[in-house]
Amino acid sequence: MDFAYSPEHEQLRTTVRRFAEAEMAPLVEEAEESERFPRQLFRRWAEVGLLGVRYPEADGGAGFDKLADCIVREEFSRICQSFASSWSAHTHLGIWPIWRTGTPEQKARFLQPALRGEKIAGFGLSEPDGGSDIRAMKTRATKVDGGYRLTGSKMYITNAPIADFLLVAARTAPELKPDSISLFIVELPNPGFAISSLKKEGIRASETGLIYIEDAFVPDSCLLAGREGTYPVLLESLSENRVGVAANCVGIATAAFEASMAYAEERKVRGKPIGSYQAIGHRLADMAAEIEAARWLVNYGAWRVDGGTIDAATAAKVKLTAADMALRVTESAIRLHGGAGIMREYPVGRHHRDALVYVIGEGTAEIQRNIIARSLGF
Ligand SMILES: Cc1cc2nc3c(=O)[nH]c(=O)nc-3n(C[C@H](O)[C@H](O)[C@H](O)COP(=O)(O)OP(=O)(O)OC[C@H]3O[C@@H](n4cnc5c(N)ncnc54)[C@H](O)[C@@H]3O)c2cc1C
Repeated sequence: MDFAYSPEHEQLRTTVRRFAEAEMAPLVEEAEESERFPRQLFRRWAEVGLLGVRYPEADGGAGFDKLADCIVREEFSRICQSFASSWSAHTHLGIWPIWRTGTPEQKARFLQPALRGEKIAGFGLSEPDGGSDIRAMKTRATKVDGGYRLTGSKMYITNAPIADFLLVAARTAPELKPDSISLFIVELPNPGFAISSLKKEGIRASETGLIYIEDAFVPDSCLLAGREGTYPVLLESLSENRVGVAANCVGIATAAFEASMAYAEERKVRGKPIGSYQAIGHRLADMAAEIEAARWLVNYGAWRVDGGTIDAATAAKVKLTAADMALRVTESAIRLHGGAGIMREYPVGRHHRDALVYVIGEGTAEIQRNIIARSLGF
């Protein structure tokens, strides 16, 4: 067992932190206020090699591993979870299954332009009547000459309002079996896709859409992997991404902790910095301990991904632990700030709203518990 980051991983963290502080932080306030994602970031991320971190160089990536991907996520989320969420929907959810199983033509047409920041990706699984319950999926794809016709709807889809393509899950057979669900790469605009933007409490600058799909034609060339029934790839993708999202949670909590440390020194009560009161010191100690524990669980999850041994229950444990931790730590940060914690002038309210997203998105905490309980035989 080795608990040290390699010099390459350390160097990556330093570089990404410098980049995020210099080029992402100045965009946060305007993006959060306007609830608009600054699209130019995708090009910039590509220029500095931060879009394809965990993909092999042969496929247009940077050739790092999952641990590196988690380090990038932590550093991005430390600055702005909205930006990190859009990045995640693009670099993982929208393209990982294409990298894993796409045809050479699909990789050239979608994966590589996405890694170059030329096309923005998203992923459509959740529906108005079925977020947690994938078996309730109503979106159907009917085979027609030269392709498929899709009809249905998708809810809460990250990047949908700004995406150039979406990876969309649809039922290709009526039975409730995993292989009755297939994945389609849908180029936008598509006349059958009507996308509207949703207003959110958390990750406000990450654009989220509701999609009505009516008789949308998708050519055969855009059926992922050229075959129906790719649902198992989706499950693999979700497991890996839950480890990634857990790293995002560590990043959000770190931001809240750092803001709290600064406030504990700056704010004086009865002539003394509040950090000198034991109650505040203990609060900070709990925050530090919880963040550290979650970070090492995330690193373990990344190690399992890199070794090809990640399973759904382990990924669920990592995500559940980190998401709940981020919620507790960000709430603690608000309490530590007193009234200032409620004011928008301070960032901790935003961190808490953003942390709330991750006890829901990518599978709610209850769903993670269901997955873990199943692995225990219940
Ligand atoms: C900001 C944001 C971005 C998102 N981005 C995307 C995206 O890019 N692509 C995408 O496909 N989806 C996305 N989602 C959707 C997200 O994955 C779902 O919201 C989530 O899976 C929960 O589904 P739901 O909202 O339908 O809640 P529901 O499934 O209706 O759940 C409601 C409540 O019931 C509980 N519950 C449901 N089933 C069970 C059960 N079997 N046992 C115990 N409790 C249960 C849930 O835990 C929850 O508390 C996003 C969501 C948010 C908030």
